[in-house]
Amino acid sequence: MGDIEEKINYCLHCKVKPCSKKGCPLNNDIPEFISALKDKNYKEAYEILCKTTVLSGVCGRICPHQKQCQGSCVRGIKGKPVAIGDLESFAFDKAMENNYTLKEIIGEKIKKYNKKVAIIGGGPAGLTAAAFLVKEGIQVTIYEKYDYLGGLLVHGIPDFRLDKKIVAKTVNNILDLGVEVKYNKELGKNLKLEDLEEKYDAIFLSFGANCSSKMGVEGEDLQGVYGGNELLEYKMHPKYEGKEVIVVGGGNVAMDCARTVKRLGAKDVKVVYRRAREQMPAEYKEVEDAINEKIEFLFQNNIVKIIGNEKVEKVELIKTKLVQKEGETRLVPVNIENSNYEINADYVIMALGAHPESFVNNLGLKLNKWGNIEINENYQTSNQKIYAGGDLAGVRGTVAWAAYSGREAARKILENIEKEAN
Ligand code: SF4
Repeated sequence: MGDIEEKINYCLHCKVKPCSKKGCPLNNDIPEFISALKDKNYKEAYEILCKTTVLSGVCGRICPHQKQCQGSCVRGIKGKPVAIGDLESFAFDKAMENNYTLKEIIGEKIKKYNKKVAIIGGGPAGLTAAAFLVKEGIQVTIYEKYDYLGGLLVHGIPDFRLDKKIVAKTVNNILDLGVEVKYNKELGKNLKLEDLEEKYDAIFLSFGANCSSKMGVEGEDLQGVYGGNELLEYKMHPKYEGKEVIVVGGGNVAMDCARTVKRLGAKDVKVVYRRAREQMPAEYKEVEDAINEKIEFLFQNNIVKIIGNEKVEKVELIKTKLVQKEGETRLVPVNIENSNYEINADYVIMALGAHPESFVNNLGLKLNKWGNIEINENYQTSNQKIYAGGDLAGVRGTVAWAAYSGREAARKILENIEKEAN
C-alpha cells in the first residue's frame, strides 16, 4: 500500500482538472476518484470512474498515459506527473477484490424502453456502447465473430502488456448488466446487415480495422513479410529462433510485434522508423521497455525495398532528415540522397497502420478516403439507422478513444430513440 499511498497523496486535486478535461479522452473525473481512494472509499472511487468508463481496469494498464491524462497533469510541469494509470488500475482491482459490480453501481438506474440495438463487434467500442445503452434500458445484442469478447484487447495486445484476466473480469462485468451475445457471427459471412436492420431499432458497427496497411515497396510480397496486425491477431508466427527480424513502424503495434518476436526467440530485432524517437506514436514506456529488452531502433531510417529470391534476405534502407514543411503540423521525413545501405533480414513485419477488411466496401455505406466507414458528428453512417465507431470509423487509435466513441454513439442512439418515443 505504501507505494500506492504515495501516488495517491501526490495528486494536488486541481480545481481546473486538466488531467480530466484536457488529457483523458473519456473525461474521467481523475482528482475525484483519487480523493475517494485517499479516503479509502474504494466503492466511491469505482462509482466515479463508472460514470464515464466501463474499461477502467484496461485503460489503467494500457492507455498511453504520457500522451493523455498524465501528459496534462500539473505535477508534470516541474517533475513527474501523478501515476494516474496505476491509480486507475488500483481502483479497478479494489472494486473487483470487493466484488463491486457494474450492475450494482449503475444497474439500478435502469429505465425500460421497448427498443433493441444490435452491436457488431465486441471490442472496446462495442462493449462500451453496450454497457451505456443497456444501463438506460435498451435491449442490446452483441454479434461477435469470435467465440469470445474483447476484440483487440484479447488478440491484439500481448499478455505481457495486458493480463487477460483483467479483460475477462471487465467483459463479465459488462455482460452481467444484461447484454445478450451471439458468438461466431461475422458480417459478410453468416450475418447480413439488411436482416439486422429489420429486427433492430439501431445498429452500431464496431468490428475494428485490423488489416495491416502495405507500404508499396518492392519485395513486399516476398515470403517472410508479415502484417503486424495479422501476426498479433492470428498468432501464425514463423520460427524466430536465431533469426533477424525487421519491424517497420513507430506505433504501439510495432512495439507489440517487436517485443513479442523477441520473446519468441528472435536473435536480433530492429525497429525501423522514419522519424525520430520524440515523434514516435508509441507510448514512451513501451519504447523504453523495448529498448531494455535489447530491441534496436533505427530512427530516421526509411525502408526502400525488401530484397530476396522468393524469401526475404535483406532490406535496403535510406537515412532521413526531418524538415518543417508549410501546412504540416509534424516534421516531415525526407530521404537523404545516396545514404542507402543494406542489412540482413529473415523476416520483415509491416506495422504501419491498418484499414478495414474489404467486405466493408459492399455494405452499401459511404467510406472516407482512407477506407473507413464515414460517420457524421452523431456517429451516424450514410444510413441514419446505422452508427459506427472505433477503428472502423477511423477514430484515433487508442482504446480510450474507441471507448469514447462507443459511449458517445450510445448517447446519440439514445437521444434519437427518445425523440422517436415522444
Ligand atoms: Fe492531480 Fe495532476 Fe490531475 Fe492536478 S492535474 S488533479 S495533480 S492528477
